[in-house]
Amino acid sequence: MTATSSRNPQGARPVVPGAGLLRPLTLAEVGVRDGFWGRRQKVNGEVTLDHALSWMERVGWVDNFRAVAAGRMRGERGGREFSDSEIYKLMEAMAWEVGRSRNVQTEAALRALTSTVGAAQGPDGYLNTAFGQPGQPARYSDLEWGHELYCYGHLIQAGVARARVTGADELVEIARRAADHVCREFGPGANEGMCGHPEIEMALVELARLTGEARYLDQAAVFVQRRGHQRLADIPLGRAYFQDDVPVRAATVLRGHAVRALYLASGAVDVAVETGDAGLLAAVERQWEATVARRTYLTGGMGSHHEGEAFGDDFVLPPDRAYSETCAAVASVMLSWRLLLATGNPRYADLIERTLYNVLATSTAPDGRAFFYTNTLYRRHAGPVPPAAEMNPRPESGLRAPWFAVSCCPTNIARLFASLAGYLATADDTGIQLHQYASCDIHTRLGDGATVGLAMRTGYPDHAAVSVEVTESRGQPWSLSLRVPGWADSGAILVDPTGARRPVGAGTVTVTHRFAVGDRVSLELPIRARWVRPDPRIDAIRGTVAVERGPLVLCLESVDLPAGRHVGEVRVDASTDPTEANGQVRVTGELVKVSDEPWPYAGTDHDTVSSTPERVEVPLLPYYAWATRGPSTMRVWLPEHTRTNKKETGSKE
Ligand SMILES: [Zn+2]
Repeated sequence: MTATSSRNPQGARPVVPGAGLLRPLTLAEVGVRDGFWGRRQKVNGEVTLDHALSWMERVGWVDNFRAVAAGRMRGERGGREFSDSEIYKLMEAMAWEVGRSRNVQTEAALRALTSTVGAAQGPDGYLNTAFGQPGQPARYSDLEWGHELYCYGHLIQAGVARARVTGADELVEIARRAADHVCREFGPGANEGMCGHPEIEMALVELARLTGEARYLDQAAVFVQRRGHQRLADIPLGRAYFQDDVPVRAATVLRGHAVRALYLASGAVDVAVETGDAGLLAAVERQWEATVARRTYLTGGMGSHHEGEAFGDDFVLPPDRAYSETCAAVASVMLSWRLLLATGNPRYADLIERTLYNVLATSTAPDGRAFFYTNTLYRRHAGPVPPAAEMNPRPESGLRAPWFAVSCCPTNIARLFASLAGYLATADDTGIQLHQYASCDIHTRLGDGATVGLAMRTGYPDHAAVSVEVTESRGQPWSLSLRVPGWADSGAILVDPTGARRPVGAGTVTVTHRFAVGDRVSLELPIRARWVRPDPRIDAIRGTVAVERGPLVLCLESVDLPAGRHVGEVRVDASTDPTEANGQVRVTGELVKVSDEPWPYAGTDHDTVSSTPERVEVPLLPYYAWATRGPSTMRVWLPEHTRTNKKETGSKE
């Protein structure tokens, strides 16, 4: 049942490190069944891929390749300078989807796109529809903003995915020709520049892993080393925007444009793992720790500045102006996955879980045809409703939008969802490690060649029980490890094959046993609604609380309030536990009506609240499900209702 064959010896999986603690399993080794992620994978494969392709045909992004191939490209073209990369990300998604579902229409669409893209490639391997044609800027004349190397990165990742799923074909050859071109043009002694948008680094490492050719790894290492030495032009946003302010090895925290920072860190981990550079790996681990501790939203979202789509300073995490780009969440999963494989530290899997359920599950509409680009934690104004037939001109939208002028996010999610089975579990010589909980079937080989199989069944994240049944085992002793999520620091129970129950704390719990077919290991997690309070240094949410349930962040949406009321009018009582009935979480508090005053400030012995507050009980819903019932206001962090001794709120002097 393992995926290896002579045509795809590495198996279908996004990352195949040459070293590290854990071996990622392939799409053939892990089959996700129905359930939270299974449903999303199905919608992704059956709807989102076609949706993305039809939009990119309609707005001319695919036709750019036809125009270059036919020699009719004359300067002006549809889409931003990096729109080629959206085609490549879609092709990567299609390659994984073919591996997941064997969908023949997807296979045909991928082949057609491959021919279209390949026809636009120059004889020297150059491929980009925005540069080098009559009326266009010259090749590599704008490394800061041109995204040519970034686009190659996505092309190479698509080629690697295709090779690992299906084997060598035309797409793989296109990607290799492009990579060879990059090595010639940007190798030592040639153009010593680099791209304003990191991305190609991890792609080149994966191509080296696929082909065994060290020059691709060397080029990736060169790109990582070059950054941070002010080779790119200074720009109004500063060189931190593209991480050219401080070398990767010397940086202490992620900064600048969040997607750039996370892609670069991912590539640096890949280079560190392949070259045995423990110092570089440790540097990225430290940056991850600092970023998670001080620059990450409760949802796992990253990037708190709209300007520059960037990380803010420590503890600058405004909920209403959260950028939290969907692509940054994809990139964060990529980074944490690499660090998890290298180190085995379950905290990386914790962040993957938080990000999957609270940003990535949020971004795509249930029907798979609309997306959030930014993922705010406080929507102050309901709407506007994005037009169904037009591209959203801005990243912000009140409801999910079908497509964006910069549409990096939908195709990024598509490639992650299509390959998601590859992020759930790993193996090593002694056993299997389960990092994410989803109903799936796992079959693999351990280091000694013995085949083992597991059937994981769970209603996670709504339900607390995770049951793992052994479906294949030769009777030799081996180990099954399960991650106990950080949020379940107390109250988790493990039931081993002997039926013994024992409490387990956050981290990794391992059962080593002479497993027989039918043996069962279960994890019971304390999934119940709980209050969460922020670090007081996060000024923007001081005095507020939020509710989490299992891995889910919950929110309050105005459609659940009396008509015309705003989520900003709710203050909650965190001294009372949230209640749960019929699958719904409710919290108590009060609904206040704030009066319009000519001056919105008052002395401290006054209260700006003018009406008598109404005692209310309000329902909360998972953040991922917000904005699916029409325009609304929404907030995750809710002001805490505190009664002062001085005066009961409610009457104005
Ligand atoms: Zn994006």
